[in-house]
Amino acid sequence: MADKFDVIVIGAGPGGYVAAIRSAQMGLKTACVEKWVNKEGKTVHGGTCLNVGCIPSKALLETSHKFVEARDHYAEIGIDVGEPTPNIAKMQEFKEGVIAKNVGGISALFKANSVTALEGSGKVVSDKQVEVTGQDGETTTYDAENIVIASGSVPVDIPPTPLTEGLIVDSSGALEFDEVPKRLGVIGAGVIGLELGSVWNRLGSEVTVLEAMDAFLPMVDKDIAKEGQKLFKKQGMDIKMGARVTGSEIKDKEVVVKYSDANGEQEQTFDKLIVCVGRRPYTEGILSDDVGIKLDERGFVFVDDQCRTNVSGVYAIGDVVRGPMLAHKASEEGVMVADIIAGHKAEMNYDAIPSVIYTSPEVAWVGMNEQDAKEAGIEVKTGSFPFSANGRALANNASEGMAKVIADAETDRILGLHIISQHAGELIAQGVIAMEFGSSAEDLALTCYAHPSTSEAVHEAALAVDGHAIHMANRKKRK
Ligand SMILES: Cc1cc2nc3c(=O)[nH]c(=O)nc-3n(C[C@H](O)[C@H](O)[C@H](O)COP(=O)(O)OP(=O)(O)OC[C@H]3O[C@@H](n4cnc5c(N)ncnc54)[C@H](O)[C@@H]3O)c2cc1C
Repeated sequence: MADKFDVIVIGAGPGGYVAAIRSAQMGLKTACVEKWVNKEGKTVHGGTCLNVGCIPSKALLETSHKFVEARDHYAEIGIDVGEPTPNIAKMQEFKEGVIAKNVGGISALFKANSVTALEGSGKVVSDKQVEVTGQDGETTTYDAENIVIASGSVPVDIPPTPLTEGLIVDSSGALEFDEVPKRLGVIGAGVIGLELGSVWNRLGSEVTVLEAMDAFLPMVDKDIAKEGQKLFKKQGMDIKMGARVTGSEIKDKEVVVKYSDANGEQEQTFDKLIVCVGRRPYTEGILSDDVGIKLDERGFVFVDDQCRTNVSGVYAIGDVVRGPMLAHKASEEGVMVADIIAGHKAEMNYDAIPSVIYTSPEVAWVGMNEQDAKEAGIEVKTGSFPFSANGRALANNASEGMAKVIADAETDRILGLHIISQHAGELIAQGVIAMEFGSSAEDLALTCYAHPSTSEAVHEAALAVDGHAIHMANRKKRK
């Protein structure tokens, strides 16, 4: 007789492993099923995020950034290192080590919290049963009072550019290159395309990004997106907007890409091509038809605001449900669902989920941008502050970018914070906390910030909302 659990979680990505740990912390007998096997054939936890997503991409972004600092900027601040050369094999080894430490950490946390790790593919076979098929094909059925589906997402393929081993790759393949491609094409100027394009651009590739849309980063505030587009171009990335890829051909180990833009049909040849056009929810083989769990029209598991599916006792979280495909959103949903199962009241504030693009400078935002607010008919007042006027940013030799606070014109409540700067991904937490606590721009303006710190740019942007910035000339009327 197989074990019986209070909660079985399917998938051990940042949604699933957090849901499992929190459930166990709440005193619930919990198991987490994972089918991901690494190159050595060993089951590993952490999902997309730890194995082929957030963590490995940041390891390569950091190493490639340090290389650029040494090559282009150390001499500016008085450090002569000669001509540095990237060692791709060593960088990849570093990345693999970072993955191994993170992945090992989850297994240790499962043990520490008494989460039972089940290896294999999980399938919901009834509202209270999960069938697990191991790598050897053996099947075991477990009873569960509650089931959490956290099966994540996979990259989207497009018909014009079918993946071709080593030449046309998705984001996972782009993290594995063992040498720097001379000419690299990237389809998609979204978060992942810009990050991976940046890695290889910094290491020496000539990068061309083909983006079908006309607007660059439409989800980001226009002022910040404009600044980003200018800076990425300066770094050598050729970002072609309004370029719709129509076909591709492999010729002599090169990829010829056809696309159309405002000037008509175009063709460009690359040594490698990365397809980064988005991700889709992954539900294959997870839901038995008899259970009747509904999907929405785009294939996401249909859930309410608290991640309940249409079947009582079955929840779904993370990339497999609506909302931004972000690790921290998945994790917070995991905590919420575990708390609900444990009998507590819990909800999530979907308006205060930060997003970060880990380029250099980083682009980070939370809440509404100015154009969204206007479209929603909300009258806003804004305050911006450039990092070129921030002492710490100048001392860091990283003074590009700006911070922008968007506040409700009537109530002064903060509706959004948008930043482009070094470490914007850290600075954005101020906006998230401010929004969680319903703060006004004045609340931030009246807060004492450490000096010198790049956070002071957020302080000054909040002061600028009412024309009171100290370290810049204010153009607007003071209140
Ligand atoms: C290159 C790249 C960079 C990214 N960078 C960031 C970033 O910087 N910040 C950020 O917030 N997000 C980032 N993301 C997105 C982030 O990785 C996802 O949002 C996050 O991993 C979603 O978590 P999840 O738990 O919902 O799903 P996943 O992480 O996809 O995990 C799902 C897990 O479920 C398992 N599974 C699926 N089906 C079954 C089954 N039937 N039985 C057992 N197990 C199953 C899978 O093997 C997988 O381990 C990035 C993604 C990519 C590709």
